[in-house]
Amino acid sequence: PSDSGLQPGTLIEPARQRAPGTAMIAIDAISKWYGDFRVLHECTTAVAKGEVVVVCGPSGSGKSTLIKCVNALEPFQKGQITVDGTKIADKATNLPKLRSRVGMVFQHFELFPHLSITDNLTIAQRKVLGRPKEEAHKRGLDLLARVGLSAHAKKFPGQLSGGQQQRVAIARALAMNPVVMLFDEPTSALDPEMVGEVLDVMVELAREGMTMMVVTHEMGFARKVADRVIFMDQGEIVEDAGKDDFFGKPRSERAQTFLSKIL
Ligand code: ADP
Ligand code: MG
Repeated sequence: PSDSGLQPGTLIEPARQRAPGTAMIAIDAISKWYGDFRVLHECTTAVAKGEVVVVCGPSGSGKSTLIKCVNALEPFQKGQITVDGTKIADKATNLPKLRSRVGMVFQHFELFPHLSITDNLTIAQRKVLGRPKEEAHKRGLDLLARVGLSAHAKKFPGQLSGGQQQRVAIARALAMNPVVMLFDEPTSALDPEMVGEVLDVMVELAREGMTMMVVTHEMGFARKVADRVIFMDQGEIVEDAGKDDFFGKPRSERAQTFLSKIL
């Protein structure tokens, strides 16, 4: 077991594991404007089932907006995004149902502060998926054990460290049996000594074959588990390359300059 106290077992179901060649997320020429300001410009990429894609780029380049579009938390004006075969811009698409299948972990942990850890882990399972109480508890507590936090089930979020809260947030998302997991700078609000314990859980998830799109500047994580790295600048996908090509030498000068600043 690692420092994070990760326990043996699995975080995801076999049905969610790697299947190369099966597109899980297809982002097809999407553009988005806030008024006159073009925040995304003709972004196109795809994430295969079980693939881990790291998204990086300067602040304000559109990374958060792009992954919020994948979860239908932000509308876009042009293009199409398909998640596990469902076109999210189709009028007929049931967005709450789609969102329940896409796990999302944000920079700020966003646990419900007034609910216990157990209730945080079970409320969406019960209200959105309609799982019986017993089943929701079992799933939630199994995942809490997996991220090494069994002892904290009865506590409230404010009683946990930032790193612990973020591990609960990951467990809470996994409890919904998502088809993909989206992360938006999950470690950037943490004290440095807590970054590792959260990355450990994400590495484990990647190794189990979860489909992941991860906005992060943790290039150690990218080197360890990413299949591909996307570099964004000014709303465009400037680079979309295999990990080795990206770290070997990015093609664009903008990506080279960015890497030289953060590495
Ligand atoms: P990143 O995550 O790469 O830092 P964001 O996706 O958050 O970038 O933002 C991209 C750009 O869109 C930024 O210039 C930001 O100021 C702008 N932006 C984000 N949200 C809004 C909004 N709700 N209204 C107007 N502009 C926004
Ligand atoms: Mg952002």
